[in-house]
Amino acid sequence: MSQKPREQASSVLIVGSMAFDDLELPSANEKDVVGGSATYAAFSAALFAPVQIVAVVGADFPSATLDELHGRGVDVAGVERAAGKTFRWAGRYAANLASRATLDTQLNVFADFRPKLPAAYANTPFVLLGNIHPALQLEVLAQVKKPRLVAADTMNFWIEGERKTLGEVLSKIDLLIINDEELRQLAEDHNVKRAAKRVLGMGPKRLVVKRGECGAMLFDDHGVFFAPAYPLETEIDPTGAGDTFAGALLGYLANVGELDAATLRRALMMAGCVASFCVEDVGTRRTSKLSQQQVATRLEELAKLVQIG
Ligand code: AMP
Repeated sequence: MSQKPREQASSVLIVGSMAFDDLELPSANEKDVVGGSATYAAFSAALFAPVQIVAVVGADFPSATLDELHGRGVDVAGVERAAGKTFRWAGRYAANLASRATLDTQLNVFADFRPKLPAAYANTPFVLLGNIHPALQLEVLAQVKKPRLVAADTMNFWIEGERKTLGEVLSKIDLLIINDEELRQLAEDHNVKRAAKRVLGMGPKRLVVKRGECGAMLFDDHGVFFAPAYPLETEIDPTGAGDTFAGALLGYLANVGELDAATLRRALMMAGCVASFCVEDVGTRRTSKLSQQQVATRLEELAKLVQIG
């Protein structure tokens, strides 16, 4: 099945963080960058499908970002504006951008957030539980009715601190999307293949492992599939590349409307393609303005990387 115009695609419901990020990048220090797992994933999924966001922001969050999301086809009716400060995260990247340290996480309005899905979101067929407290991911799951696919992302912060609740999330989802470091941590095994097997045993039917500039792997009933990353000449800011990847993956699947092996593999290529744009500028500067044509052109180049003969 091929792609259709986004208006004709099934919708994607995204729950996650909306944030201010303070980033120490090799090129510059960037303060108050609008980020968050839901923000990145929404801009990316909206390239392929109508998107609904469930999140919370504080009084200080820019309305311009919500307007920008709306302008890209994202329904922001599920974004609650609470009294207080928006979630804040600070990170420092290594000179080669390959690793980063979290310097600070301030939950702020997330500390008291209880997601309430607008009635219209309960039947959304594709659900992305973006990186957020696993208890909140569960609360969202409790409010949706029989989605076709539930995918979830998480991070070291929750694997370390909320393993039990995260385990409950894993038992209820179809697809887990994590990076290789998180996979090793979750499985307590450094070998990716063994670790993937172990994590699949925790519940999800499919597992996607993001490996940064080394691409991504899909583990499911059909075995293992590998998609390369697009080799970039300009790498500025990898923040949100994982969320952008997850958003594109779900958006593409919602667009095509099939969950067969070939569609999932194509979705993995597409996700890597869109995520590569994220790294080329700070925050969502690049992905919020991306055109279908730019994505299609890069996807062709990406596919050529693994074409033999
Ligand atoms: P990524 O680079 O794909 O892992 O995503 C980075 C984004 O995740 C940043 O914009 C942060 O605001 C957000 N983030 C970082 N830590 C957390 C957390 N503990 N919960 C939710 N979102 C987070």
